Amino acid sequence: MFKKLALIGIGLIGSSIARAVRTHDLAATIAISTRRPETLAEAEALGLGDCYTLSAAEAVRDADLVILCTPVGAYGAVMAEIAGALAPGAILSDVGSVKGYVQKVLGPLVPAGVHLIPAHPIAGTEHSGPSAGFVELFIGRWCVLTPLPSVDAVAVDRLTSFWGVLGSNVEVMDAEHHDRVLAITSHVPHLIAYNIVGTVADLEAATKSEVIKFSASGFRDFTRIAASDPVMWRDVFLTNRDAVLDMLGRFLEDLSQLQRHVRNGDGPAMEALFTRTRAIRRSIITAGQETAAPDFGRPHAAEPMVEVNVEPSVPVREHGGGDDA
Ligand code: NAP
Repeated sequence: MFKKLALIGIGLIGSSIARAVRTHDLAATIAISTRRPETLAEAEALGLGDCYTLSAAEAVRDADLVILCTPVGAYGAVMAEIAGALAPGAILSDVGSVKGYVQKVLGPLVPAGVHLIPAHPIAGTEHSGPSAGFVELFIGRWCVLTPLPSVDAVAVDRLTSFWGVLGSNVEVMDAEHHDRVLAITSHVPHLIAYNIVGTVADLEAATKSEVIKFSASGFRDFTRIAASDPVMWRDVFLTNRDAVLDMLGRFLEDLSQLQRHVRNGDGPAMEALFTRTRAIRRSIITAGQETAAPDFGRPHAAEPMVEVNVEPSVPVREHGGGDDA
């Protein structure tokens, strides 16, 4: 499908693309570039590409498909480095979790004849780095493309086919709409998770250890999301501020109403809401975007949980990547 694919950034998403492209033989050459030598060495040891370089400009030379797979905050610097080396006719894309900002920062620097087609695969885990990727990551997940209407339709079709072979369902929409939808489905939920886990972390030591000990209740599921990559999520909130603040405002209004129901002991109102939300989870399962297995398929009787003593001062966070899943 492509002569040369250049991946700039080779973490969870970049390495998953590399694995899937190799599996489906979608590019004759895969060039990999990243910022730190140790990450490049890890990618090379995993055999993710055909050539490896710390120079993004060198990686994109003669590439007919370039995909930026770094945190969004790095795009300006990366683009300044590669703009002069992009080949005429190349497709320039990305995988960033926000799209309006990407158009704003990349658009003015795109050379004539290069097709800018921002993309967002809505798939991920809370892990990061080249070893975290896997070939099936995009199967059955949505990938949203946000080209300007003036972008060459043939190039958009090519990128649509590319993500289709990786297993994704592709939808084209405008960047602003994408950012509003993702603000409520992904960005605000992450903010809530970071906040609730942060609140727990601020509690005095004895209480905190109790929370960790009894975390098999709802709190544990928030900690998975709150283990997502700090840099990636910092950049999401720096670059999708307006949509996030808008959705957060709605969320806070609804939370106040729920608070009133709790204060007033309004059982019917709470039951009505919880019945509605339960139906939403069922519809996500029906749409194939979540497992129907109880407790997210966690092992229970067959593999009993080991009780561990957790130091109260241990932060409730693990090394992890972002999570748009
Ligand atoms: P990751 O596993 O942390 O990998 C990030 C990659 O970007 C690494 O190769 C890293 O290089 C490089 N990088 C980091 N900072 C950089 C900088 N300032 N300049 C140049 N390179 C830099 O991240 P990821 O989870 O794959 O996420 C990558 C992108 O995918 C982000 O834009 C994110 O919004 C988007 N995304 C993530 C998910 C998810 O769930 N994780 C889902 C959908 C989309 P070094 O290690 O060499 O520093």
